Amino acid sequence: MRLDKLLANMGYGSRKEVKQLLKQKAVTVDGAYVKDAALHVDPEKQDVSVFGERVVYTEFVYFMMNKPPGVISATEDVRDETVIDLLEPLHQHFQPFPVGRLDKDTEGLLLLTNDGQLAHNLLSPKKHVPKVYYAQIEGLVTEEDCKKFAQGVELDDGYVTKPGELIILKSDLQSEIELTIQEGKFHQVKRMFESIGKRVTYLKRLSMGSLKLDDNLALGEYRELTTKELTALQ
Ligand code: URA
Repeated sequence: MRLDKLLANMGYGSRKEVKQLLKQKAVTVDGAYVKDAALHVDPEKQDVSVFGERVVYTEFVYFMMNKPPGVISATEDVRDETVIDLLEPLHQHFQPFPVGRLDKDTEGLLLLTNDGQLAHNLLSPKKHVPKVYYAQIEGLVTEEDCKKFAQGVELDDGYVTKPGELIILKSDLQSEIELTIQEGKFHQVKRMFESIGKRVTYLKRLSMGSLKLDDNLALGEYRELTTKELTALQ
């Protein structure tokens, strides 16, 4: 990897700022001062240091975000703000992407990483990773609805869902539920309710596999996964 890319990725500034560091003789590779930004280095085998401190290289980043409404779960969008726009520039350098999508109006847990293998494992239908959603529904939700979801319901395109576990938290004019599903079809939660003639008015993802949304994260905030969270997910 180019030295300037490595240092920019690891938060030592833009490529231009990194060039300044190199000019200042702040950077050593295996103990020797280096000025050449294009020098290829292997940060795992070589000692790259800035002002005498070794750069600890990480290839992958893992963030959990509490996605706010109004933001798109994509890496770029011509019109709207994306979840990537909410990341600090330093974190954007790693080119993370959202693992799965939440609708523009959906809130809650979104994992962002540049680890394609982990993303694939979490999204693969074969792995049956459970996702738990909290939702508010217009009108009463009944035990009959729970039974229907447990059997799988037919969506508007004819697809019959795998069983979902529906728990009623409050059945009222505005009901509250928790739904666990192991698939991720387009608008799945909303369409499952549509199939029983009901409308989701608010949707928030609470968890994905072992990863639970950190209650301390306000909407739009994010943090790195802890080692424990990451290990449990892998
Ligand atoms: N199901 C939906 O309908 N929307 C989401 O954002 C996630 C799951």
